[in-house]
Amino acid sequence: MLGSLLLAVSRSPLARRAVSGFPVTRHVVDRFVAGEDAGDALRAVRRLTDARLTVTLDHLGEETKDARAAAETVKAYVTMLDTLRPLGLGDRAEVSVKLSAVGQMLDDRMALDHAREVCAAARDAATTVTLDMEDHTTVDSTLSILRDLREDFPSTGVAIQAYLHRSEQDLRELSREGSRVRLVKGAYREPATVAHQKKTEVDKAYVRCLRILMEGKGYPMVATHDDRLISITELLADEAGRSRDSFEYQMLYGIRTDKQEALAAAGSTVRVYVPYGDDWYGYFMRRLAERPANVAFFLRSLRSK
Ligand code: FAD
Repeated sequence: MLGSLLLAVSRSPLARRAVSGFPVTRHVVDRFVAGEDAGDALRAVRRLTDARLTVTLDHLGEETKDARAAAETVKAYVTMLDTLRPLGLGDRAEVSVKLSAVGQMLDDRMALDHAREVCAAARDAATTVTLDMEDHTTVDSTLSILRDLREDFPSTGVAIQAYLHRSEQDLRELSREGSRVRLVKGAYREPATVAHQKKTEVDKAYVRCLRILMEGKGYPMVATHDDRLISITELLADEAGRSRDSFEYQMLYGIRTDKQEALAAAGSTVRVYVPYGDDWYGYFMRRLAERPANVAFFLRSLRSK
């Protein structure tokens, strides 16, 4: 209930102005976001890679209807990738892109051309790109852009949301040789016509999707903080005869860092999704919606000022 309300306000310009206006909000946001600029993000990359973790960097922003803002986002990604190149991290530091931040709401062609620029810069830095998945209305367009990108940049990955009824079929088509698929539960408010609504149903769907990925020929990226699903991942990987280096775990910056480090210490590849930039509102509200305790933490910070 509270989660749905937060997801609804995550798209309200009025709520965006109100929440962003609280001076203490920044303090709470810092728990989930690496910082406002590329320097902050690079410091987080250094810290995490020194701790044997890998990263995917997200320049915050989404749902832009402004062509200039979309071009600015591309520039920010290219600059970041050019900075990463001499560090020689290779695919230990990749990037995640929301197509709606690079023009998908304006024109699919613009989003494709922009994504191509980011993929080319990633290739020059010996790394790659994963496309985030946004609300269900964008899935067909995102998968079509992915297909085009993979012709020139075959390692481009995509996130698939287990809560969508269509995802098992999408995964059957995607889990081919060379594909990289990040499996997530799904973070948007979706109607029952397209998505499972109950947590137990989403969890069961996640396991079905995971089985398809593990039995497929691609590289599964298991993006969850859920202990039960992590245990099931190990079982399904064993059943499918997969070695530890044939899939990876992914978690969000600031969430379950103990688990991230424990999995890496046990020999798994763990990639941390590192968001940075000043357009944090939508991302932050989705993190609050996932866990009521985060809202309590936010409200306590407001009261204590
Ligand atoms: P949950 O059942 O939500 O959480 C399991 C446990 O993890 C909780 O009990 C809690 O201990 C911890 N936890 C989870 N969330 C939080 C939080 N916000 N704060 C504190 N603790 C928490 N969604 C998309 O729709 N599209 C994407 O492209 C996308 N990319 C993602 C990339 C990565 C690397 C990850 C990890 C997630 C991504 N998500 C994306 C979000 C995802 O869909 C879920 O909303 C989110 O991961 C929470 O689900 P969970 O699997 O961790 O399970």
